[in-house]
Parts: sequence; structure tokens; C-alpha cells
Amino acid sequence: MKKEAAYYSALEGGRVKCLLCPHRCLIASGKSGTCGARANEGGALVSLIYGEVTSIAMDPIEKKPLYHFYPGSDILSIGTRGCNLQCPYCQNWSISQDHGASSRKYGPAEVVKAARAGGSVGIAYTYSEPIIWFEYVMDCAALARREGLKNVMVTNGYVNPEPLAELLEFVDAMNIDLKNFREETYRKVQKGGLADVLRTIESAHGKCHVELTTLIVTGINDDMKELSELTDWVASLDANIPWHVSRYHPSYRYDAPATDIDFMLEVCKMAKNKLSYVYCGNISGSYGWSDTVCPECGNVAVRRSGYRTKVDGVKDGACVRCGAGLYIRQ
Ligand code: SF4
Repeated sequence: MKKEAAYYSALEGGRVKCLLCPHRCLIASGKSGTCGARANEGGALVSLIYGEVTSIAMDPIEKKPLYHFYPGSDILSIGTRGCNLQCPYCQNWSISQDHGASSRKYGPAEVVKAARAGGSVGIAYTYSEPIIWFEYVMDCAALARREGLKNVMVTNGYVNPEPLAELLEFVDAMNIDLKNFREETYRKVQKGGLADVLRTIESAHGKCHVELTTLIVTGINDDMKELSELTDWVASLDANIPWHVSRYHPSYRYDAPATDIDFMLEVCKMAKNKLSYVYCGNISGSYGWSDTVCPECGNVAVRRSGYRTKVDGVKDGACVRCGAGLYIRQ
């Protein structure tokens, strides 16, 4: 399904400039931008993926991962194809980097109806990069909001400020990837920019619920000094922002060994000195880093085993034992 895109300007000679993300692609007629999802058709920029759903499933919200936003609930999760970054180790490359991935058309009303019928807390725009699905996400999110559903984005955060501000009017929670803490690595490896992602995190914080994820990738960001600087930055913004440390496994074009588990556990210990909520994911067994523990009294507020979640130590976002706020929306 095609739809004229938002955020572009038409230039002389039939070219267009897409203004959705910091790439600001200059696109000649008949060509598409870096993400493969937006193309110049006769001097107009069109979204090639409006309503094109490659993946749809009712997932536990902890799978996004979101551990502090309606913990224990299910959320209808949808994704499309394409991405505006190019991580060589992408764990979802079969849809993010395959511009021909097969899809089924869903109108926004159909998605909202499916979410309501399934008892979902809302809709998660996830699996690949929802920023490049901007027009569809906006239409679904506005309708979902009217129907009392929550909107969640799982995103790389590589978006320009104006479209982000528009999204934040409808988005209730974001899990934002903070892939590393080196501008040079973002430029060379992911073909993006760290400063742009940090700006997104700062803007989203306070406007919606925010959690962060960092995939620790062997040979790319498995550096304690860098990760220590990253957690310093998060703590300076808000030490209550949950940080998910996730284990890389060889995928797509990158075949370095999976991240060393002992290193990941060291990273978690380092981070816990600065941040209230640190979680270790994508490993078999939790190693003690999947429960939500009250930072004031040590009470286990939310107990997790795989995707089984028991929420019995928190009420109205606060610890039932000592009453401390746990940065939880429920
Ligand atoms: S959204 Fe796609 S087309 Fe637009 S600037 Fe970003 S990569 Fe380029």
C-alpha cells in the first residue's frame, strides 16, 4: 500500500529530500532512500510500507522489552520491513534488511480491532524500525488512543525532532536502543549517529515512559569503559530509567562469538552502582538479573522467569512493603 509521505521537500529537477530521519536522503525520481521504505515517485515522496505488516503477534510486554510498563500484560505487536540503520549483526535482519520481505495489508482499524479482541494493553510497533513507518504508526496510534489502548514504540531513536514531537503526542512508552556510546562506532558500524539518538532519549524522557536497551556485541561495544560512560550519561538524565543489557548472538553479516556471559554480568554489576533498574536479557537463565527489586527496601516487586511474570510486590507503581516509587506504570 502506498501513501504520500510526511516530512519531505520537493526540489528542483524532480528530486526530493526526506526529512524524517537524520539521513535526510536526497532521492532522485524512481529511487528510494537508505531505509528502502520511502521512494520518489514523480517528484513526490511516498511510503512504500503503509499498512504492510510482515509480523503480527500477541507478545508478553516483557518481550519488547518493557519491564516497568504494565508488567505482566500482553501487547499486540506489529512490524514491517526496512530500517534506517544498517547494523551488520542485526538480530531481525530477515525483515529489517530484506526490502522484499512478504507482508499482509492491515488497515489501522483492523489492527486496533485485533488488539481489542485479544485483550491487549495496546499496540507495540516493533520487530523492525517503526520510525520509517511514520504515517502508518501515526494513524494506528491516534485510533488506538481514542479506543483507550496504549501505544508502544521499540525504536533505534534515529529520528528528526519534529516527527518525534508529533509521535510523542500519541506514544505512551518507548524502548529505545542505545547501541553504544561512541559517535565513531555509530557512524562506521550502524551508519547512524549517537548524538541524534541521545537527543531522542532526552526528548522522550518526561513525555512518555522510557526504557533503554543495549545489545552488547563482541568486538563492537564490549568495552567496560565505554559502557561505564554510557551508564553515567543515563544516570545523569534519570537513574530510574530501566536499562536492559542484551546478549548478542552471531547473525546476518557478523559472526564473532556470542557475548561472554561473565562480561555481561560484570556490566550489570557496574551499572547497578549507578542505575536503579538493570536487567540482563537474551540469555538462558536469569542469573538473578530479571526481577524488579525495590531499590529502597530490597523487596522483590516483580518476579520473572522466562516470560512468566508475577506482579505481587507493587501497587499503583509503588513497593507494597515500603511505599517507594518503582518507576512502574500499571
Ligand atoms: S526515513 Fe528513510 S528515506 Fe527518509 S531520511 Fe531516513 S533513511 Fe532516508
